[in-house]
Amino acid sequence: MSDMTTICPALPEGHFIGGRYVTDTAAIDVISPSTGQRIGAIPRADAQIVDQAVQAARKALATSNWGGLAPRERLKALHKWADLIEQQAPALAALEAVCSSRPVSHALTGDVMVTAEQIRFFAEFADKEGGALIPVADQQFGYIADAPYGVVGAITPWNFPISMAGWKLGPALAAGNAVVLKPSEMTPWSTLYLAELSVQAGVPAGLINVVLGDGPVTGTAITGHPGIDKLSFTGSTRAGAAIMQNIAATGIKPMTLELGGKSPMIVFADADLDLAAQCLERGIMPNAGQFCVAGSRILVAKEIAQPLCQKLMQRFATYQPADTLAAQAGFSPIISTGQMGRIDAIVQASVKAGGQILCGGQAFDHPGSFYRPTLIGDVDQGNPAVTEEIFGPVATFQSFDTEEEAMALADHATYGLAAGLFTRDLSRALRLTQRLQAGTVWVNRYGRSRDHILPTGGWKASGLGKDLGREAYLANRRMKSVLIDL
Ligand code: NAD
Repeated sequence: MSDMTTICPALPEGHFIGGRYVTDTAAIDVISPSTGQRIGAIPRADAQIVDQAVQAARKALATSNWGGLAPRERLKALHKWADLIEQQAPALAALEAVCSSRPVSHALTGDVMVTAEQIRFFAEFADKEGGALIPVADQQFGYIADAPYGVVGAITPWNFPISMAGWKLGPALAAGNAVVLKPSEMTPWSTLYLAELSVQAGVPAGLINVVLGDGPVTGTAITGHPGIDKLSFTGSTRAGAAIMQNIAATGIKPMTLELGGKSPMIVFADADLDLAAQCLERGIMPNAGQFCVAGSRILVAKEIAQPLCQKLMQRFATYQPADTLAAQAGFSPIISTGQMGRIDAIVQASVKAGGQILCGGQAFDHPGSFYRPTLIGDVDQGNPAVTEEIFGPVATFQSFDTEEEAMALADHATYGLAAGLFTRDLSRALRLTQRLQAGTVWVNRYGRSRDHILPTGGWKASGLGKDLGREAYLANRRMKSVLIDL
């Protein structure tokens, strides 16, 4: 690999169950998206391995009494884990970058550090959040008690492997549960090492179990296992629907689903155009557009459409591919050749349906899987680039005359994950944030901040329930209403 300054530590091998690595037959190759080369292989956990992980989780809950400890003890253990994550950030960042789309320098200063921060954030709920006394008649005593679920099943995607694992593990553990987690088969290693560090930090062995494998075999074994008391999933809407079906077929269990999106970024004529151009770029190009809240539909008032489009195309032209292990971060690769083929197929279908490529529209001539920043104009609401989640560096560009028209274009038939508004008119901003059909709305900015108290989650087919925020902690506890006649 040219310009490679990061040497990846030894790759963890096997599943991580009951606090140790469990070897299993290698079954799935892991490929570097930066080079196209095979880096290693992982096993595919079958129902028996998943059951072993669930039993290890149950045993750890029973022997450590994790859910029944003084909450401050859980808090202390999780803070120690966060300390160790920070200390081991270089190794975690390398394991993250070696097989994913995350540049190692971003993983080091961003993803890994934010994961530690979020684990601390959730740890703090352990001794502060509780049940409630309820006002009832004076001959009665009423309260709401709460308790952990037991074993939480978690399934995460490849686009931000370590952060997604942190989103699941932090609240589940703080709330007193054990976890059986399956990372994406394309990005397994940082999650394994994260689990290993938890044991080194003194979190009881068996509370975090990581099983490796794909969706159809390993994922299905997790979602259908009767010993999993609650499920937390992040991934595509397609997989979310399959999971709901499997859960319905194998026994009901509560679930949180963080799914796909097709989020609009809407720019009004009174917006600060330089700020808008900067935010639109940040809304679609980080991680080569492979993030759930990507602002993949740009909607611009007609009178400023031309200059804003020019500004964007200039910005998009500056991107150059870079190996994720290179010292200096560059444009991210697409996670796999399959995913790049899917992106290109939607772009070509969009052109066939009348879309006009304003820039990009093809892969870079470069090793690995890199797709050019792409802007598509002349699209109607039925165009495939408008209807489909592309999950790549591709945005559509549409213009509107009126606020009503902007709202009609913004409203997606399927998705409602996020939306961005750019305007200097405060009344319009407040009016439209109310109207937008999305779980998150940003005004004069685009993208998450480090205010972890803000919950994230989709409306419509973008999801069910919330990650982050107090809501994610509460989603890992179950409530019990108690009424006593005195
Ligand atoms: P994916 O749905 O293909 O896979 C996600 C995970 O689910 C992987 O671990 C996969 O192995 C597993 N899986 C797949 N099919 C399964 C099944 N039938 N049963 C159980 N598990 C199964 O998604 P991806 O390609 O890894 O990630 C991209 C998708 O994730 C995009 O749609 C993106 O919008 C979404 N995403 C959403 C959020 C959010 O917060 N809403 C965050 C990140 C990513």
